[in-house]
Amino acid sequence: FLVRRYNLSEIVREMARMLEVSISKKAMLNYRLADALPAVEADATQLRQIIMNLIINASEALNDQNGVITLSTGVMDCDRRYLSESYLDDNLAEGRYVFLKVSDSGAGIDEETRQRIFDPFFTTKFTGRGLGLAAVLGIVRGHRGAIRVGSEPDRGTTFTILLPAVLSSR
Ligand code: ADP
Ligand code: MG
Repeated sequence: FLVRRYNLSEIVREMARMLEVSISKKAMLNYRLADALPAVEADATQLRQIIMNLIINASEALNDQNGVITLSTGVMDCDRRYLSESYLDDNLAEGRYVFLKVSDSGAGIDEETRQRIFDPFFTTKFTGRGLGLAAVLGIVRGHRGAIRVGSEPDRGTTFTILLPAVLSSR
C-alpha cells in the first residue's frame, strides 16, 4: 500500500486504453476527462482496481451493440447534504473532492437490487462473483472518499467516486 499523489484523469486514461480493445466490440467509450485537476492521494494499484471494476461492470450492463460508456473526471465542492446522499458518508469532511463518473447506457439497477450491490458475493450475473463493488467500496472507504449511484432502469447507471482533493499549498 503505497500512497502517492496522482492525477485521476491520467490513471483513468491509462486504464481505459487497456480495456478499450475488449470494450470497443460492444460499446463506444466517451472521455470527458478534466485536464487540470487537483491531485488525489492514493495507492495506484487500488485506484486502477476501482476504475477497472467500474468500467467492466458498465460494459457488462450493456445489452446491445451500440452501448455508450462515458468516463468523466472533475472537481467539485461537496457539502454535508450532498455527502449524506452517498454511500460512506460517515464522518467525511465537507470540502473539495475530485470525482470520477462512470456512466453506461445499460440495463440500469432497480431499487431492490441497489440495496445489495455492495454486499460481498452479491451478483445478478450467471458467472458473476459479486466482489467487484465490495472491493470498490473498501478501497474508497480507505481513501476517505464517497460513492454515489444513480440509475434509471432501461436507461443506464452512473457510479460517482469522490476522493478528497489535495489542496494546493503555496
Ligand atoms: P459482479 O460484477 O461479479 O456481479 P459486482 O460487485 O461488480 O459483482 O456487482 C454486483 C452487482 O451490481 C452486479 O451483479 C449487478 O447486478 C450490479 N451492477 C454493478 N454495476 C452495474 C451497472 N453498471 N449496471 C447495472 N448493474 C450493475
Ligand atoms: Mg463486477
